[in-house]
Amino acid sequence: MNIHEYQGKKVLRNYGVAVPNGAVAFSEDEAVQAAESLTSNVFVVKAQIHAGGRGKAGGVKIAKSKEEVREYAKELLGKTLITHQTGPEGQLIKRLLIEEGCDIKKEYYVGLVLDRATSRVVLMASEEGGTEIEEVAEKTPEKIMKITIDPAIGLQAHQARKIAFSINIPKELVGKAVKFMMALYQAFIEKDCSIAEINPLVVTGDGNVIALDAKLNFDSNSLYRQKDIVEFRDLDEEDPKEIEASKHDLSYISLDGNIGCMVNGAGLAMATMDIIKYYGGDPANFLDVGGGATAEKVSEAFKIILSDKNVKGIFVNIFGGIMKCDVIAEGIIEATMQAGLTLPLVVRLEGTNVELGKRLLDESGLNITSAESMADGAQKIVSLVK
Ligand code: ADP
Ligand code: MG
Repeated sequence: MNIHEYQGKKVLRNYGVAVPNGAVAFSEDEAVQAAESLTSNVFVVKAQIHAGGRGKAGGVKIAKSKEEVREYAKELLGKTLITHQTGPEGQLIKRLLIEEGCDIKKEYYVGLVLDRATSRVVLMASEEGGTEIEEVAEKTPEKIMKITIDPAIGLQAHQARKIAFSINIPKELVGKAVKFMMALYQAFIEKDCSIAEINPLVVTGDGNVIALDAKLNFDSNSLYRQKDIVEFRDLDEEDPKEIEASKHDLSYISLDGNIGCMVNGAGLAMATMDIIKYYGGDPANFLDVGGGATAEKVSEAFKIILSDKNVKGIFVNIFGGIMKCDVIAEGIIEATMQAGLTLPLVVRLEGTNVELGKRLLDESGLNITSAESMADGAQKIVSLVK
């Protein structure tokens, strides 16, 4: 789960990570009020959307007066910001962070991520802050420093110190940088983060080390014990289809292709997307209906797939292990009748009661193309949508 920058900074401040003073605003008046609550002469008006790259896209403005804060608030609120992370449709700006302007001497990058290869948290840092770290990783990978953290003992001060020196933090500020990284790590662990990225971390003219940006991502499996984080959820930033799916306990992720996929099991769902691609098609979604899906769940899943206007055909690929193929077939028939489905539908069933399931589909009188195998099904749906 993602949260906004201003929320992330709130979490970090509680752990003693240095962040600029600031306040959230939902309107022009609130933006001016927020500026009045700050003591600086320069303010930064920052669009709050769940995507980075705002600076380059015009979503971060420097205001030299409260009047300018109002002007920028007016300009940004209600505007759709397109950054390289939002996709071409962009994201509507509904909130702003009004923050004290900071006298930046140099920008750095510091991030904590879970490295799946070593199953450990890795502290990454670079002297090349402010720019996209993906770009640094591609062009000058030697400028990214990494340290793997032992979960039994956590981040050690000497490790943070080594990182601080390796990215050339001024010597007199290394102590502050170490304190910063230790506090960031504490927040990461206690709040069950999957990513904590500070880009940029800055050294200021008056000798401070602070986080100018904060991107925190949380492991959704731990949200049951992070109630305060769940409160930060902003449904406006999420895909409505994904929100609907989560209500029905369906694992659904929207993609930009045109073949809707309904599969049981995450592995089979991944393989289904791969095989569609292999035969030249593009999946519209990832969808795992789960091992014990009921006819009702199958029907909800259909509705969600069909609410995607890009979908030109559906491929159902289900292995009946716990679920029986005849129950699945019934669910498909019911759902297609309810939805008044007119799009091509290819169904591949395998497993328990497969013969019965296939017979039900054949006898339903509905326009369903039955597939003999996964490859056969993928080829059929790809040619049907073309
Ligand atoms: P994004 O990563 O989405 O572009 P950032 O929060 O990193 O957004 O802001 C982009 C740039 O704007 C930063 O690299 C920094 O140079 C500048 N900036 C952001 N916040 C402040 C601030 N409080 N004071 C001064 N400059 C800022
Ligand atoms: Mg940034």
